[in-house]
Amino acid sequence: MAVLTDLHCHTRVSPDSQASFYDMAMAEYAAGVRWLCVTDHCDTVDWRTLAFYPPCRTVARRDREAYLACRDRLPADLHVRLGLELAELQFHPELTEELAGEPGLDFILGSHHITAQLGDYHELTYTDPAFLGRMWELYLDHLQWVADADYYDVMAHIGYVRRYAMAQGVDTALTLAGYGDRIEHLLRTIIGHGRGIELNCSGLRDGCGPFPSEEILRLYRSLGGEIVTTGSDAHRPADAAKCLAQGQDILRACGFRYIAVFTGRKPDFLPL
Ligand SMILES: [Zn+2]
Ligand SMILES: [Zn+2]
Repeated sequence: MAVLTDLHCHTRVSPDSQASFYDMAMAEYAAGVRWLCVTDHCDTVDWRTLAFYPPCRTVARRDREAYLACRDRLPADLHVRLGLELAELQFHPELTEELAGEPGLDFILGSHHITAQLGDYHELTYTDPAFLGRMWELYLDHLQWVADADYYDVMAHIGYVRRYAMAQGVDTALTLAGYGDRIEHLLRTIIGHGRGIELNCSGLRDGCGPFPSEEILRLYRSLGGEIVTTGSDAHRPADAAKCLAQGQDILRACGFRYIAVFTGRKPDFLPL
């Protein structure tokens, strides 16, 4: 089996996690991960007002301090990298450029969780079928913006909104049948900029499937997409590394032969 790599996990530097850096890193290691990148939330806007959110300036520094405080106690064969899940770069691009330029950053997940029109996907109601079409179009608008802005290394969890709909009993997904042209344009933009996508395994934990779906992974591969990372998106040690091995199986089935890890914002490739 290929070595497990988790390039998407959270610690208590994220508002929605209680986990210490040490506990998360040790849980990942115990589960078999040997390449770990901590990607705490770096939300550039206040979730209610969309105004600039000053605490985002401190996320990278707080992660580095947490890492340095426990580095000596971590296993020598655990490769630890420091990243950000950088969200909503469309609202304050000049700030995003500053955050993305932070020295010592190994990896940036480009992430989208909130729209000015609808708010946070986490808080929406998905039971109206007419809403779903508008929502996915809006979602794609924002992913395209993130891709065009190009302040990231890998685009996070494409299609993850499915999770919140499924939690309300609504089975909807970002499909090629519905949005193939737009998805292809998005993937071509990502590839053209030399960026990549992640296979976010959190949906495998709760029965929603991988984000993105296998058909989108296959399209990305067929378009020449090479850079793909895996992430558990764990927010607590109990979820560390969950479904990463299954994610690797999916990638192999979709034709990928290598998995990417990042150091200093540059990819290296490990055999799958
Ligand atoms: Zn996210
Ligand atoms: Zn995350």
